Amino acid sequence: MELNFTPEEEAFRAAVRDFLAAKLPDRLSAKVASGQHLGKADLQEWHAILNERGWLANHWPEQYGGPGWTAIEKFIFENECALAHAPRTVPFGVNMLGPVLIKYGNEAQKRYWLPRILNGADWWCQGYSEPGAGSDLAAVKTSAMRGVDAQGDHYIVNGQKTWTTLGQHANMIFCLVRTNREAKKQEGISFLLIDMETPGVEVRPIITLDGEHEVNEVFFSDVRVPADNLVGEENKGWTCAKFLLTYERTNIAGVGFSVAALEQLKAIAAKQTKNGKPLAEDPAFAVRMACVEIDLENMKTTNLRVIAAVAGGGVPGAESSMLKIRGTEIRQEISSLARRAMGLYARPFVAEALEDGFDGDPFGPAFAASVAARYFNNRKLSIFGGSNEIQKNIISKMILGL
Ligand SMILES: Cc1cc2nc3c(=O)[nH]c(=O)nc-3n(C[C@H](O)[C@H](O)[C@H](O)COP(=O)(O)OP(=O)(O)OC[C@H]3O[C@@H](n4cnc5c(N)ncnc54)[C@H](O)[C@@H]3O)c2cc1C
Repeated sequence: MELNFTPEEEAFRAAVRDFLAAKLPDRLSAKVASGQHLGKADLQEWHAILNERGWLANHWPEQYGGPGWTAIEKFIFENECALAHAPRTVPFGVNMLGPVLIKYGNEAQKRYWLPRILNGADWWCQGYSEPGAGSDLAAVKTSAMRGVDAQGDHYIVNGQKTWTTLGQHANMIFCLVRTNREAKKQEGISFLLIDMETPGVEVRPIITLDGEHEVNEVFFSDVRVPADNLVGEENKGWTCAKFLLTYERTNIAGVGFSVAALEQLKAIAAKQTKNGKPLAEDPAFAVRMACVEIDLENMKTTNLRVIAAVAGGGVPGAESSMLKIRGTEIRQEISSLARRAMGLYARPFVAEALEDGFDGDPFGPAFAASVAARYFNNRKLSIFGGSNEIQKNIISKMILGL
């Protein structure tokens, strides 16, 4: 097992850094670094820059537009982007649906939808969770009844999805729908692509703790969907669903995000004072910062160990659950320490400070607003992508055999 990067990998890292220095707009990285809101246009701008360079769909095979990177190159790329404060790529089309279409879609679907993901013609969102189906995803109830009439073969969809991230920007949603109520629950599910502009689709916002409109509820009332939008076989959607989840957990440890957040925490702790001295010199605070830094270093090594195993032909099993748990705990601890370091400044929630054009002292209330917002927003990390409790169940089954 080799945990150091090879000279070729170091050269790749340098090429990524050069690209980011030349192409990542300062305006976007400043927004990410200060925790300001990224609008649809900001996210589309970064999507287009990556696509132009051919580095957008880095999980796709080369024949469909992927760059042909190894697992280690993907790791390097994602971490360098986080360290440079690049916006996150919206994952739903590129990282989730794309690989599903490549594996399970028919030729016509690949030809039509894949280029539209790359060029940004479609903004996808993920319609998996329902009010009664989260951890127990196979309990989805949203129904799709097949029928044929003068306008053709189609499904009529009724039901509700929830927690639909960035669904307010989306024109398309991929959904798990129930096409057979009689079968065992995993066997009656299909994977359907639905145009959000079809009559009967309604999107309602959910406002989260940080005051953000990031997630939504999506309602379907007699929504007509062409049968051509079925991916894979009818009633075999669970296979697509599980395959997609392995991609949802890609880079779940988020090492680069934690390294960037830790640097920011250190800057705050050097600036904020306690009893006339920088907070970084306060023994109690310094110990907590040191502990999280050690945990992060350990996790980085574990992450590289898993990647090295995958590069050697292995399949990540319980390790990805471990990385998810530790990665999200570390990110939450860093944002919690940052909030503590801001002290009273982190108390008021100054919503305007998260918008374009707000001009304030970066270590005063303006910056504190984003620290508090990030703390609240990061609560989600241990819930989505399979909650941390569910990951512990996976570990106990796979490793302890319980
Ligand atoms: C910010 C955010 C964005 C999201 N975006 C999307 C999206 O875009 N699309 C989408 O489809 N979904 C999305 N989700 C949904 C997410 O996948 C679910 O929230 C998650 O799977 C948990 O399901 P649930 O919320 O229904 O909680 P539940 O499944 O009801 O769980 C509630 C609690 O019980 C625990 N629990 C449940 N079952 C077990 C068990 N067997 N053993 C031990 N503990 C258990 C859970 O860990 C959790 O703490 C998002 C969620 C959040 C918070």
